[in-house]
Amino acid sequence: MAGAFAFKGCQKIRGAQIRILLEAKDFFLFDCDGVIWHGENAITGAAKVVNALIRRGKNVVFVTNNSTRPRENYVNKFTRLGFTDVMLDQIFSSSYCSALYLRDVVKVRGQVFVIGCEGLRVELLEAGIPCVEEADDPDATIYNCALAPDVKAVLVGHDDKLTFLKLAKASCYLRDPECLFLATDNDPWHPLSGGRILPGSGSLTAALEVASGRKATVIGKPSRFMFECISSQFSGVDPAQCLMVGDRLETDMLFGSNCGLDTMLTLTGVSQIEEAQEYRSSDLTTNHSYVPDYVVDTIADFLPAFEEIEEQNDD
Ligand SMILES: [Mg+2]
Repeated sequence: MAGAFAFKGCQKIRGAQIRILLEAKDFFLFDCDGVIWHGENAITGAAKVVNALIRRGKNVVFVTNNSTRPRENYVNKFTRLGFTDVMLDQIFSSSYCSALYLRDVVKVRGQVFVIGCEGLRVELLEAGIPCVEEADDPDATIYNCALAPDVKAVLVGHDDKLTFLKLAKASCYLRDPECLFLATDNDPWHPLSGGRILPGSGSLTAALEVASGRKATVIGKPSRFMFECISSQFSGVDPAQCLMVGDRLETDMLFGSNCGLDTMLTLTGVSQIEEAQEYRSSDLTTNHSYVPDYVVDTIADFLPAFEEIEEQNDD
């Protein structure tokens, strides 16, 4: 029975244990960066794993907090990196889910002020949500710039062209208590090569939370909303049949735990097994939600399990 394995509980699993888990689960949710790829480089073996799962009739979806590109770009990237069977409806990004939230949940009437990359605006526009045009005079300041009269939501995502003027405008819009305050995700930072990091959307949201004295509603992981999007697009999703695979304890594992899914940490990304063990031994029970049910070095560890299944089927 799913959830009753003796090998469950923040430990590395291998061989037959992975095979049993793969056979037990029907629905696989993968984070992308640090799990499937690092930037433009696929994790070795990841494409084979994903292709094999899809070919075996498992449901596979990708759940990413990255809001910078539209879903079409993801399909192209998957194809480019050798993931041949990935379709648009398998991709759940925080930008796409933000658009669904604005359109279907709060049914926003009016414009959205976006702090974010072009990909985020593309997703909103595709969902029919009008965004405030970004066409400031280079000399504009918060003292003299125009403010749109009908802004009903401020949405904050990753923005590598953030300016003080954008922050100031967003702060002004948030003075209106009717104006919603949303964040695509709350990621604090992202790793770059050479030990450098990139501040994440969470750091921009924090600036606006201080300026506005308000708390943003977070759409991406670890919030449950992305799982609700998945459940509404795939019929009969049973949390007990799902496995959430990710590389970050505070987003991916907590998301899985919040949604009642079994979780697997892969060690090809941000979090290390020692951090998971620290959370596990913490006296604070809320910290236990960050602890993965299973750990693998890489999702390529699934490959021998597929071979085992094939051998069994040949017998
Ligand atoms: Mg990741």
